[in-house]
Amino acid sequence: MADSGNSMRNLERHLEQWLIAYGSDLAIPAGTAVPRAEPEPREAVPATTAEPAAEQHVEIPTITRAQPATNAPRPSSDSQVEEPAQANQSHTVTSLRALRAEVLACTKCKLHSGRQNAVFGEGDPTARVMFIGEAPGASEDESGRPFVGPAGQLLDRILEAAMGLRRPEVFIANLNKCWPSSNRAPDAEEVAACLPYLEQQIQLVQPEVLVCLGRTAAQNLLGSTESLASMRIQDHFYNGVPVIVTWHPAYLLREPSKKRETWDDIKRVNQLLGRPEVPPPKR
Ligand code: SF4
Repeated sequence: MADSGNSMRNLERHLEQWLIAYGSDLAIPAGTAVPRAEPEPREAVPATTAEPAAEQHVEIPTITRAQPATNAPRPSSDSQVEEPAQANQSHTVTSLRALRAEVLACTKCKLHSGRQNAVFGEGDPTARVMFIGEAPGASEDESGRPFVGPAGQLLDRILEAAMGLRRPEVFIANLNKCWPSSNRAPDAEEVAACLPYLEQQIQLVQPEVLVCLGRTAAQNLLGSTESLASMRIQDHFYNGVPVIVTWHPAYLLREPSKKRETWDDIKRVNQLLGRPEVPPPKR
């Protein structure tokens, strides 16, 4: 009973943190059933004319986690573990850098002509979870980094409040790497041209869970035509990797009533990763 009481207090503390992070427009009572919802429109990001960002913003960060992302049997001694793990990480980083160079020079679809920067993605090259959005917006095009506008700041708060993680501990990418001007959704031809880059990123990082942020990413990765509301309540797999479908943070900024569903979706991510459903409170 004591454990149950502590657990409930822990959950309530985090719900409070969640509300502080996202605004107090929606109460999320513990254990409340989740209402199902509607598809989301696309993010509107203000245009900018600033100079492109420096290279270092899209560098693959230093590896912070030594644990392999697969369920392969572990060798029995430290000496057996370290060398192959380091070799694998080194190969992953090298391959991601080569792929990034390819993306930065890509002209495979017409989006290349209007970009300031292709936005490759960033994060831990051995991340256990990869978040996938639709395409860069104007802020991302300017900076060369994914999710840096208001929606990105909300994603950072989701990571921290609901998972106890920081951005460098996950990998963040987009379906399309170049900004479709006017913030339109990428068309079928543009998605088809760019999807192989995302597929290679997934293959290299080998995340244990994929999180699709928004309908466009989910439909194209999963080959579905269903609404986001429908996809988010189903189980999905991409090449054997579980996929959680949830609302795009840009949509949450406009429709805060969906925060409760996002909270539940992220709890499922935590469960799949074997992490506490609610991260322990910070001291
Ligand atoms: S959107 Fe993708 S395929 Fe099109 S130019 Fe950019 S990197 Fe290449």
